[in-house]
Amino acid sequence: MLACIRCGLCLTSCPTYVLTLHESEGPRGRVGMARAVAEGHLQVTPDLLEHELNCLVCDACSAVCPAGVHMDPLQVVLRSAIEPEIHRSWGERLLRRLVFSWLFMDMARFRVLARLLWLYQRSGVRSEAERLLPEVPRRFFIPRGESYPSSVRRRSATAAVPAGDGAVPAGDGAVPAGDSAGLVPEGDAGSQVSIFAGCVMSTALADIDRATLRVLLRAGFTVRNPAEQGCCGALHAHGGDLRGALALARSCISAFEGSEGPIVVNSAGCGAMLKDYAHHFRSEPSWAERARAFAARVRDLSEVLSPGALPVVHGVDGRVVYQDACHLLHAQRISRQPRELLSCVPGVELVEIDEAALCCGSAGIYNLTNPVQSRQLQQRKLDHVLAAEPSLIVTANPGCLLQLRAGLVERRSPVQVKHLAEILDEASAP
Ligand code: SF4
Ligand code: SF4
Repeated sequence: MLACIRCGLCLTSCPTYVLTLHESEGPRGRVGMARAVAEGHLQVTPDLLEHELNCLVCDACSAVCPAGVHMDPLQVVLRSAIEPEIHRSWGERLLRRLVFSWLFMDMARFRVLARLLWLYQRSGVRSEAERLLPEVPRRFFIPRGESYPSSVRRRSATAAVPAGDGAVPAGDGAVPAGDSAGLVPEGDAGSQVSIFAGCVMSTALADIDRATLRVLLRAGFTVRNPAEQGCCGALHAHGGDLRGALALARSCISAFEGSEGPIVVNSAGCGAMLKDYAHHFRSEPSWAERARAFAARVRDLSEVLSPGALPVVHGVDGRVVYQDACHLLHAQRISRQPRELLSCVPGVELVEIDEAALCCGSAGIYNLTNPVQSRQLQQRKLDHVLAAEPSLIVTANPGCLLQLRAGLVERRSPVQVKHLAEILDEASAP
């Protein structure tokens, strides 16, 4: 907060400022209000709460700030501090407790709920609105501590596969002998990575996790899938429950300590949170070093795949819009790598859109907590995307994927939205 020099360079990057042109709906206003509260000059009023909680925590302001103001950790601490001041109904408090303190704290419970949703979706009694939820797949991606040998090394017959380790199940991407042999450079072959499965990604979007695994194996990595990993805690951190977020962070750090090499994430929001662990534990002596070591290993999928490392054997014909997820573009400063990977797929014509850096309005559960602003941003994004006349939208974050899909279904558009891992999986499938 003290770093802010009130220059205003962040204003036009901020989605809520762009929508309203109000100082209190921009980063400079939010930093100023937070500082005034911290210094005792301002009461926490309903008005102040509204302006602070309208922030998408998209980090677009952090990416352009010349003074190094970082909005994400500021909002995390602020929201946790003002949570007791927020008037919530009895039902809302109960729901928050159920979701934050019970459901997300245990992946076994989370999977039971996802299974119930799967049953419900197949019951035939779904409404039109619920059809906008992701189609929950039959099989989840459950981390059990297994190790998958790289497809490249398997062909070389030098890979030692520890007894009992799970090979990728048949039909799940195991590369048959003779497939695309010789197309894979040995650059990263044999390196070990660990996959961060996620909570929503490993259940409602488990097919994307499996696609990620296949892509990593075909690129020559040996992949560990550590047991006991769970939710990264991003929803808790941005929802005012810092204690819950840190509890989840501790179990994630512990779960990955038995593995080596990069921790690969296919969800931009989770990746940004995992990289922030070092900051969140900086003043906790018993965890600071462990959190720093963990955060230093976290990589987005597009950071570990070098273009050309994947045996691309199929093309994708069409105009493709790559939708920058805020937590990849702004929070992790990753924009070149996904585009380079897409450019390696024959037939892909990448097209850029106006306001590409402006949030699509998904932002975790923002579309539930702030439906009005979320919808305004969704429609604005869709207008820009469709003006480019793409046949496909590719993104690397579950929130953007579902937000754009929902909007396109509503507009009865035939344009598809896919995760980057799905495109790379299709392009490299034997
Ligand atoms: S760009 Fe940074 S320093 Fe300038 S007003 Fe915004 S937050 Fe403050
Ligand atoms: S994080 Fe995003 S919404 Fe929040 S103040 Fe910064 S730019 Fe605006």
